[in-house]
Amino acid sequence: MRLIPFTAKTTSSSPQPFVTFVTKRLTICKLKGLTIQIRKQKTESILRKHPWIFSGAIESDTTQLLDGDIVTATDNRGNFLAVGHFQHATIALRVLSFEDVGINLDFFQKRIQNAFELREKIGLFVKGNNICRLVHGEGDSLPGLIIDFYNGCAVIQCHSIGMFRSIEMISESLKKVLKDDLKAVYSKSSDTLHQREDIVDSYLYGNCSTPHIGQEYGVKHNIDWINGQKTGFFVDQRENRALLGKYAKDKKILNTFCYSGGFSLSALQKGAALVHSLDSSKKAIELTEQNIALNGYTDRHESIVADAMEYMKDLKEDYDIIVLDPPAFAKHRDKRHKAIQGYKRLNAHAIRQIKPGGLIFTFSCSQVVDKYLFNNTVIAAAIDAGRNVRIIEQLHQPGDHPINAFHPEGEYLKGLVIEVE
Ligand code: SAH
Repeated sequence: MRLIPFTAKTTSSSPQPFVTFVTKRLTICKLKGLTIQIRKQKTESILRKHPWIFSGAIESDTTQLLDGDIVTATDNRGNFLAVGHFQHATIALRVLSFEDVGINLDFFQKRIQNAFELREKIGLFVKGNNICRLVHGEGDSLPGLIIDFYNGCAVIQCHSIGMFRSIEMISESLKKVLKDDLKAVYSKSSDTLHQREDIVDSYLYGNCSTPHIGQEYGVKHNIDWINGQKTGFFVDQRENRALLGKYAKDKKILNTFCYSGGFSLSALQKGAALVHSLDSSKKAIELTEQNIALNGYTDRHESIVADAMEYMKDLKEDYDIIVLDPPAFAKHRDKRHKAIQGYKRLNAHAIRQIKPGGLIFTFSCSQVVDKYLFNNTVIAAAIDAGRNVRIIEQLHQPGDHPINAFHPEGEYLKGLVIEVE
């Protein structure tokens, strides 16, 4: 494992090894009991267990705190409110616990054990399925931490410096919880913590050559967390891909924004007559083709490298089913209006041109576009296209991407299956 020390505010002139730095800092946190005081009028959301404390809610001076410090928040009388990872950012404290507990190996092990048991409860560790999201940030009371599990290899993605600093404890906890089912742990946070150039992706435990084959409901997938997007695979569409399978028999299908071909594979597994997979990334299409070959579906599949919006303007073929699964068109609220226009145009192209009686699986993973706004956008697209549309399924993120009830911001994936008259 290669971890380079943080450059920020160390006292020594020569860099310290990362682990030494972390150990020292954690000791300082414990001894000094780093604390922030919350403004009197701002405690309500913390008492309602919302896991984010914004910088504007903090009364005390935070200049001495370092990004990633474990900090306790108190009310103005010194009563404990929460403990979490501090960062000099709008979200200043990501709450790890609303109880006064130590943030140590035992803490991480308990949380990861709990997350694992939820996936077992959902029924994800069954024959033919060895891919799931094992930890989903706030949904598993571990804000800033994502762990995807791919047939023995856990890929960790940290969204906060604090989680990154705890990565050794997270890796140790994974070993304790998953035991022999765990062959390797890979840390991939250089994308998400890109403001810190000193973060290097590497194996923390074991080693696993990529692409690595995992299975989703009996379909094989090549997964490459080193070169692929995000942690290598879009785990969140598993149930929606399976649903497409239900409608796919003997159908001609266009899967746009296909990435590794997940929807295409599920449709082909269930007997689709022909599937066209489209993505603007050549690398994604190569990955799709590898997966199609891996499962033996080459004779019923063609791939297209193109911009989906351009391609959808004038479809050259009749399709029974079209899948629209674009990347987040809006990552921030100020981009929402433009995003809505994009979703409307894309959906209107599909509604206008699909075969009579055809189905469209349409999605948005923009957190700032909620399900009501998305539904209205698809309805507006149907009005534009001038065809009658019925909503036959309302889709969402699966159970291994749980939404903490006190953190509604955790809901991001929504979709519809519509039938076009
Ligand atoms: N449906 C996929 C996940 C889609 S991720 C699955 O089930 O795994 C979004 C994909 O859209 C990425 O592969 C990205 O390369 C692709 N993409 C982004 N912009 C695009 C565009 N304008 N046209 C076509 N594909 C695009």
